Amino acid sequence: MAAVMPAPAASRLLMSGNEAVARAVWESGVKVAAAYPGTPSTEMLEVISTYPDLYAEWSVNEKVSLEVAIGAAYAGSRAFCCMKHVGMNVASDALMTLTLTGVIGGLVIAIADDVGLSSSQNEQDSRYWGRFAHLPVLEPADSQEAYAMTKVGFELSERFQVPVILRMTTRINHVKSVVEVGEREAFAGAGFKKEPARFVMVPGNAGKRIPLMFKRDNELRALAEQSPLNFIEDGSDKRVGFIASGPAYMHVKESFPNAPVLKLGLSCPVPFEKCRELAALVDQVVVVEEVEPLVETELKAQGLKVLGKEILPPQGELAPNVLRPAIARLLGENVPVTTSTAAVQIFPRPPTMCVACPHLGVYYTLSQVRNLTISGDIGCYTLGAGHPWNALDTCVSMGASMGIAHGMDKGRGEADKDKRIVAVIGDSTFLHMGMQGLLDMVYNKGNVTVLLLDNRAVGMTGGQDNPGNGRDIYGDDAPRIDFAKLVAALGVKEERIHTVNPYELPVLFKTIRDEVKVPEVSVIITDQPCVLIKDYHKLKPFEVLDDKCTGCGNCLDVGCPAIHVTRRGKEIKASGREVDLAFVRIESSVCTGCGLCVQPCAPDAIVHHVPVSPIKLIKNCGA
Ligand code: SF4
Ligand code: SF4
Repeated sequence: MAAVMPAPAASRLLMSGNEAVARAVWESGVKVAAAYPGTPSTEMLEVISTYPDLYAEWSVNEKVSLEVAIGAAYAGSRAFCCMKHVGMNVASDALMTLTLTGVIGGLVIAIADDVGLSSSQNEQDSRYWGRFAHLPVLEPADSQEAYAMTKVGFELSERFQVPVILRMTTRINHVKSVVEVGEREAFAGAGFKKEPARFVMVPGNAGKRIPLMFKRDNELRALAEQSPLNFIEDGSDKRVGFIASGPAYMHVKESFPNAPVLKLGLSCPVPFEKCRELAALVDQVVVVEEVEPLVETELKAQGLKVLGKEILPPQGELAPNVLRPAIARLLGENVPVTTSTAAVQIFPRPPTMCVACPHLGVYYTLSQVRNLTISGDIGCYTLGAGHPWNALDTCVSMGASMGIAHGMDKGRGEADKDKRIVAVIGDSTFLHMGMQGLLDMVYNKGNVTVLLLDNRAVGMTGGQDNPGNGRDIYGDDAPRIDFAKLVAALGVKEERIHTVNPYELPVLFKTIRDEVKVPEVSVIITDQPCVLIKDYHKLKPFEVLDDKCTGCGNCLDVGCPAIHVTRRGKEIKASGREVDLAFVRIESSVCTGCGLCVQPCAPDAIVHHVPVSPIKLIKNCGA
């Protein structure tokens, strides 16, 4: 990706929260920014990489990205890293000690919570990390605040020598609003100074840092009481006052414009006195926070009478259609039946893979092999759990397919003794967190067939580069990992490593069927690129010959979205059995000619598409 010149200072731009944070990072003079892609945080680093005068990288996982940022901050430079909420679970090992060493140059960690579960495996609340690691948490409510709070984050970080968490949610990450931008400030790095008592966290040193952390807690709480980021907006309707942060504040303002509100921009540590100030103004206080009752619990522990999750749901966004009826019930009013915006009717469709995705053949084949238990992983391959493949039995977290498959093998009961265990993982996920699981499996004499689906991209988040595809975040050449050599280095026997084209179904089928019978660890690598990256080359498309199609529906089992059912029917077999038929059409304009659906079609009804010549079309129209 070529670096682009940023918009001049004082421009007013329509920006998503991700873009606003990226701009603020650049303006703050940050020298190093690192991340692993993860929706809804991905665009922050993508945009940062387009700015000049700083270094950006896709790291192999979130812990490494945080470590890279820590190193830069120890060296006295400003540093940034971002991740989605589950990424902090991975990075937390570094975070929990970082809180003791602190930083020299400012370090802001943006964590994007997927409130409402648009694309994630859980809905955890990252504000917990502020409490757990004794760190300040900033919560922007729109793009302008995301921009401003990122800058404040660096100042806070340097003033208290502490990393600062910027908690975003999907709504802030992706929704656009106007931001007035500024200029990049030069930031002179202080340089690294040897200070082993601070930076070498052996027990003796760490023990001395803990009291400093508690002292910092008190200073931060005093700051939260005074900070202009935490302010009360008075209102004429004193029946209920609200304490809210992030997008929940916006929802409160939209639902109850006349109610007093305490907005928490610096939401951890909680400013208890400010909360008491609000309570004195109103009949009762409701804490509106997405997802967990963190502020509410802390206020109750302080003896404040507040309501929260007794009346509000602990899951999903607290939008006006949720807030209004809950407060109406609290006030004994009729529940309003209208919402501010009409719900958009979206045609329901299950998530599916792309046309010609190289994983289609893998899941089609897995669905045809009998007696398998399949441990899946995070990424596009999770979609293998859906129709028509129904080919995944588990999916927990990044890289977990390996350990879970190994555990299923070792822990199997009598009923499962004949089952063959397969683990499915993608290239980037394997490098992120899967390698250790494979090593464990080999070391402990496991019996699992691993399918390593190398599509040369972090596909699910938009095709970002990784060490498996030989390009860095700037699109420049980078060393490319040889997966066969890598898994051999982890101890898999050479004869148990196969590289297979996932579009060649008979070879794939035979390789999987043979390897699951071998009672040791095998790795089958599929090596075709994601259809959405530039390494993918389309071939001549196919079409279905109506007069040859028997309606058997075998091609539908491949799961390619370019194949549509045009007509359904029934057939009575000689045995008297009734069979459902599905006659199909291929949408030739999107078909890439991968050839997958051709292979299970017995009557050869799928042939290369012959475009109708314009002259013939005109003749057919009678012109
Ligand atoms: S050849 Fe078949 S499977 Fe491949 S893209 Fe075309 S319709 Fe889909
Ligand atoms: S596999 Fe062939 S015969 Fe069967 S439905 Fe598809 S195109 Fe028709």
